[in-house]
Amino acid sequence: MTAPVETKYPLQVMDGLYQLRVPIPNNPLGWVLPYLIEGRDGWTLVDSGWNVPEAFDSLEQQLNDAGVGFAKLKTLLVTHIHPDHYGLAGQVKERSGATVVIHQRERDLIRSRYRNPDQLLATMGEWLTTHGVPKENRDDLKTSAMPVRAFVDPVDPDEVVWGGERLPIGRFEFEVWWTPGHSPGHICFLEREKKFILTGDHVLPTITPNISLHPQQQGNPLGDYIASLRRLEELDVEQVLPAHEYSFTDLAGRLRAIEKHHDERLEEMMTVVGRSARTAFEVARGVKWVTGTLDSFSPWMQRAALGETLAHLDYLVLEGRLHKFVQDGVQYYKRAGND
Ligand SMILES: [Zn+2]
Ligand SMILES: [Zn+2]
Repeated sequence: MTAPVETKYPLQVMDGLYQLRVPIPNNPLGWVLPYLIEGRDGWTLVDSGWNVPEAFDSLEQQLNDAGVGFAKLKTLLVTHIHPDHYGLAGQVKERSGATVVIHQRERDLIRSRYRNPDQLLATMGEWLTTHGVPKENRDDLKTSAMPVRAFVDPVDPDEVVWGGERLPIGRFEFEVWWTPGHSPGHICFLEREKKFILTGDHVLPTITPNISLHPQQQGNPLGDYIASLRRLEELDVEQVLPAHEYSFTDLAGRLRAIEKHHDERLEEMMTVVGRSARTAFEVARGVKWVTGTLDSFSPWMQRAALGETLAHLDYLVLEGRLHKFVQDGVQYYKRAGND
């Protein structure tokens, strides 16, 4: 990853807009990039970081260095509720009194994911069985997300958005773009006149975000994601400000590359299914992963890989290329017709 390690943060992107960099300790992502925007009577922060002292101290230091501090923060916009974006929301709210703004679909997940996960855990157990996870792996996979909850200090939003809203902030006017896929209520912020966009995790310069089917994300997340990518193709932007890695310029090129990646992934899944009936877990074991084999992954990563595989398999079902059936409580995927 080409990390601008020598860059000093907060980094002024333009008048009234700073990029911050908050560490994500012991995590390959390295950092999250929150943004700080100057308004007429206070500042807006987009995303925050994990709820760990190292991240909090870094965020506080950068807010102070920008001459803003918690005292002048008026609004916290959250692109989605993953811990690296939403983790410090509770603390930011407590220290600043900022108005917290989150998409409606994300708000609906806060309780079951972070406050009262018992029901989710029970559902997760059944879900893992259905998708062919061997009995000996099931308990580890089921509870694998629980430690991550410690990195989140949850807070309910004061305001929700749906997408399509206009948010005037100082010299800027942002449009809220609902871009589901990576998370059901993920949002981007477009500044049409100044030709830049804050893309959160939706579009990153070299890595592709995890697109998963899981008990809290039903339907067709990969289809939603691809549609969300295509909606951005028309945009005339010169600067892309993502939430990880680094800023870049060629939005259209990156959108095409991500779509191509998923096309190749879909073909690979078809090959692994072959002429057999396979569970999602078997397919996840059969496809290639950049970071190793499925069996070498931590339970958390195995579950993410299973969710990602399922998002692709169900997409293929909706395309009519695979069909799925349940036998003895286990779901299988098989090629449809002559494909
Ligand atoms: Zn995310
Ligand atoms: Zn992220």
